[in-house]
Amino acid sequence: MRVVVSGGSGFLGSHLCEALLRRGDSVRCLDDFSSGRVSNIAHLLHEPGFESTTCDVTERFRVIGDVDAVVHLASPASPFDYARRPLETLAAGSRGTENLLRLAAGHRARFVLASTSEVYGDPREHPQDEDYWGHVNPIGPRSVYDESKRFAEALTMAYRRSRDVNTGIARIFNTYGPRMRAHDGRVVSTFVRQALDGEPLTVFGDGSQTRSLCYVDDLIRGLLAMIDRRLPGPFNLGNSLERTVRELAELVLRLTGSDSELRFLPLPVDDPARRRPAITRAREELGWHPRVPLEEGLRRTVTWFSTQPVTSGRPPERPAVG
Ligand code: NAD
Ligand code: UDP
Repeated sequence: MRVVVSGGSGFLGSHLCEALLRRGDSVRCLDDFSSGRVSNIAHLLHEPGFESTTCDVTERFRVIGDVDAVVHLASPASPFDYARRPLETLAAGSRGTENLLRLAAGHRARFVLASTSEVYGDPREHPQDEDYWGHVNPIGPRSVYDESKRFAEALTMAYRRSRDVNTGIARIFNTYGPRMRAHDGRVVSTFVRQALDGEPLTVFGDGSQTRSLCYVDDLIRGLLAMIDRRLPGPFNLGNSLERTVRELAELVLRLTGSDSELRFLPLPVDDPARRRPAITRAREELGWHPRVPLEEGLRRTVTWFSTQPVTSGRPPERPAVG
């Protein structure tokens, strides 16, 4: 297959490009390098099946040759990134999604949207299954991301219904692993970096909010399963093991052997209190389930971070707090 991956030089995108090449597909990566890095794909650039084009997918771009599948991952994705780039985030979900849907429609290719657990907002149902419609503040600081993804889902379904495009929606829950940016502001990368640097771990709120963390290799297997099938979804892709943020901080301290303290800071506005995916649909229809236990995934992540220059990247600004 020849697969177009938008956002292919980012955290998830670079792992997906690599997995596709490894199984014999060829890949065209489209990225504007706003949060992606050349170093994520440097090892792929010499591979004959891999092409990389620098472009903004919300503008005009061209893909020459056959296309069998399109995976749309391009978007600011961490809360710090989308707080800094609100208009670009809305554009990535709206114009960006439509440009990639048109590409898929023109080639009668499979289209997979990287949506998010954020479509459930600060959920009132727990765990969240795909039939839950969500609880999203449409005007809060997170809305640029949440509503952009909700619009992207609606657009995807409209292309499926009215243009007969073979679409699939993946609702990705918090995923972590090697190639996260040390300063992306997300909880795993931040805690690991702080622990390795001997800095206090910044716990927002009292740390009682929960997340369910999926290791990147598991998530990529789920995306491959979605590329290969004609199923529309949506499918929750995530690990259903739920932990509080405070428990996560303590686990990172134990795994790194760090004696950093916990520093409690105000909770960001609209920070979801609980999040855990119900993954029965993905298990039954995709035959997918996560395999890497949290401790093992975190160990691999710590090992990777400890080989990186820990001060690389620009320290983020805090998002809006309550
Ligand atoms: P990332 O920031 O590492 O990757 C996003 C990539 O998209 C970057 O390479 C960036 O340069 C590129 N990009 C952004 N806007 C672009 C544009 N207009 N044109 C071209 N390229 C553009 O983030 P990630 O964690 O790899 O996330 C990838 C996708 O998965 C995103 O759509 C995100 O919303 C979704 N997702 C990720 C998670 C997670 O936990 N990692 C959870 C839910 C959903
Ligand atoms: N968080 C934290 N300290 C940090 C970064 C994040 O306590 O330095 C919390 C954040 O408030 C949220 C959870 O960790 O409750 C996950 O945050 P992340 O930004 O990774 O993803 P989100 O699920 O909010 O999109």
